[in-house]
Amino acid sequence: MDMKQTLAELTGKELSACSNQEVYLALMTLVQRESAQRVTPVTGRKLYYISAEFLIGKLLSNNLINLGLYDAVRDTLAAAGKSLSEIEEVEPEPSLGNGGLGRLAACFLDSLATLRLPGDGIGLRYHFGLFRQSLKEGVQTEMPDPWLTEQSWAQRTETTYPVMLAGKTFQARLYRLAVTGFEGRTNTLNLFDLDTVEEGIVHDGIAFDKTDIDKNLTLFLYPDDSDEAGRRLRVYQQYLMVSAGAQLILQECAARGCNYHDLADYAAIQINDTHPSMVIPELIRLLGEKGVAFDEAVEIVTKTCAYTNHTILAEALEKWPRSYLEAVVPQIMPIIEKLDALARTRTQDESLAIIDAEDRVHMAHMDIHFTHSTNGVAELHTEILKTTELHGFYTLYPEKFNNKTNGITFRRWLLECNPALTERIKSHIGTGFYKNADELEALLPLADDPAARKEFADVKAQNKVTLAEWLKRVQGVEVNPAAMFDIQSKRLHEYKRQQLNLLYLIHQYHEIKAGHLPPVPLVSIFGAKAAPAYIIAKDIIHALLTLSKVIAADPEVSRWLQVVFIENYNVTAAEKLIPACDLSEQISLASKEASGTGNMKFMLNGAVTLGTMDGANVEIFRQVGSENIYVFGQTAEQVIRHYAQQDYCAAEWYHADANIKRAIDFLTDPLMLKAGREENLTRLRDELIQKDWFQTLPDFNSYVVRKGQALADYGCNPEAWAKKCVVNIAKAGLFSSDRTIAEYNRDIWHLAKA
Ligand SMILES: *Cc1c(COP(=O)(O)O)cnc(C)c1O
Repeated sequence: MDMKQTLAELTGKELSACSNQEVYLALMTLVQRESAQRVTPVTGRKLYYISAEFLIGKLLSNNLINLGLYDAVRDTLAAAGKSLSEIEEVEPEPSLGNGGLGRLAACFLDSLATLRLPGDGIGLRYHFGLFRQSLKEGVQTEMPDPWLTEQSWAQRTETTYPVMLAGKTFQARLYRLAVTGFEGRTNTLNLFDLDTVEEGIVHDGIAFDKTDIDKNLTLFLYPDDSDEAGRRLRVYQQYLMVSAGAQLILQECAARGCNYHDLADYAAIQINDTHPSMVIPELIRLLGEKGVAFDEAVEIVTKTCAYTNHTILAEALEKWPRSYLEAVVPQIMPIIEKLDALARTRTQDESLAIIDAEDRVHMAHMDIHFTHSTNGVAELHTEILKTTELHGFYTLYPEKFNNKTNGITFRRWLLECNPALTERIKSHIGTGFYKNADELEALLPLADDPAARKEFADVKAQNKVTLAEWLKRVQGVEVNPAAMFDIQSKRLHEYKRQQLNLLYLIHQYHEIKAGHLPPVPLVSIFGAKAAPAYIIAKDIIHALLTLSKVIAADPEVSRWLQVVFIENYNVTAAEKLIPACDLSEQISLASKEASGTGNMKFMLNGAVTLGTMDGANVEIFRQVGSENIYVFGQTAEQVIRHYAQQDYCAAEWYHADANIKRAIDFLTDPLMLKAGREENLTRLRDELIQKDWFQTLPDFNSYVVRKGQALADYGCNPEAWAKKCVVNIAKAGLFSSDRTIAEYNRDIWHLAKA
């Protein structure tokens, strides 16, 4: 294709005369046209990955790379005085996800298409996503995060499906978003919406009338569930997604010759966490309408569906009061009751029931009883499910349990976000690693080659300068690129322990004040959104922002220490931060982070991990060896024992350890109170002393020691540090989502390659 001519046709005028917006829309059309050429017919089973979230990130560059058009487009634009990276800036990031679970779904779609496997996503077309975070006056405020435009990646279709909500029929409209694979096929992300949704009903940030479902149903991902209307709204959303999704699946399979009795030969359905669990009773209901008897329908659905567990945090394992389901989806409640009765014929154990004694419906329990596979997302997580959290289920169905350690797509998280590193790697080992990540291991000998180490160190140094420029431009903060860049970017949650990092920074502040200077300056960067109703999480953000101010105002300390909080952390920001990171903070309380995928992205980009033995950190440790990662803290076993014995007492640690006491007390020091808000800082201080549910304090000292060691190694022995970076890159191949998807396919889905 003659790119210059194509773009001229698409824009209808000289490229140089087009605005960036016009070029962007032309490129969107180009991508949509080219990707349509690569739709491949399905033979055998097709996967439907149902997920409340798809955190897909911006699509233009990724699609151009996958379609092999990136270089031609960039060069053609450059010749016309246009910059592809500036055009990218006008693209809004799709607001369809929240954190790791949604990003995993996006990486999986990329790998499915790249591996030429037939696998589509099913989700909702949220108008405003979770929220756009703004950090003014030291607090998080939430605003809508609009991304839908007249011409959009998600293309409207004429297809609608009737969905019954609270006895009334709504029409779910299908939108289709093309998912390109790297030199692969094109799959589809199917997104449902209602035509009647009204963006104008949102007021005062993200508030809206939660009862008006034909106007509000798809406005936001995870609407505030602190009241009953909000909780019901979540059930409405989930049912809209699975009912429309199930109808689409049955229709597509029937079009390929399925007679419904053989559905499992045509479809594999992956239930991503508990949000899509109602697809089980809904499919049974729909099969019933097609004439399939209940017992057979249960068997078919069990063979077709599989469930992924993403967490052991009780709050995330959804339990809906029977009364909500009776009100919102009365048509499936009798089916759920029959499933509960059937499950009770298999076990007497009340704790494994679907409907418990308090009339709550346990979605995860329904998933495990009535799918053929339950997987955890990292080795440690799967072991904890088997031995602790889901032990009863494991005893009942040992054959259903399996592990699928998460992964990330290297196309986005290396090729796209870090072109300089990609070039370096390519110059040594060629391009095979684009599709065969294990080939990265060929870099390992370079870890002992000083010249090669310097090349990689230079790339990192340049990426840090680039990040510094971006921070200056978008946030107006200046950072020193010669400092160590230490990054903790992920959702704000107490189990992830941003508060531990906060206590370290306060400790370091005191050390510097006392004249104990570190070997190298530290820039500590955070990026995190807190759920709007999660008070302590917001207090942690406030404390970090306040500390940042206190340090910046102190010339003695600010030469050595700086705290930066990125506003509105999302995929776009992650792509800027990760290539520039020296030290990757993965400090969750052991046993609580199911896997993590941020840890993998940082490693792949040559950052060294500072982490607990939790989630996939355990596997990273095994990959790189103890020389090339900094681990600290309690083990998962110790933590689980403390919870079981309920013997952890934060106040004891606070009173027994002068450093811990000094750090916590500083939260309400006059300096902090002057720069911040007393209510928030006091509440956080009290929480840490009186509760500290995620056991920050027992890990404090070992964290300080290991982080100090990392700073010393980085500052005093750059050669040895550069070696660690190369080893991390070389050993990251295991964490390609291509590997993860190949394993899902081998063990669960059995799809045929096109
Ligand atoms: C990868 C990613 C996450 C997940 O990070 P974890 O550290 O695994 O929690 C969250 N948000 C964004 C934007 C990401 O890219």
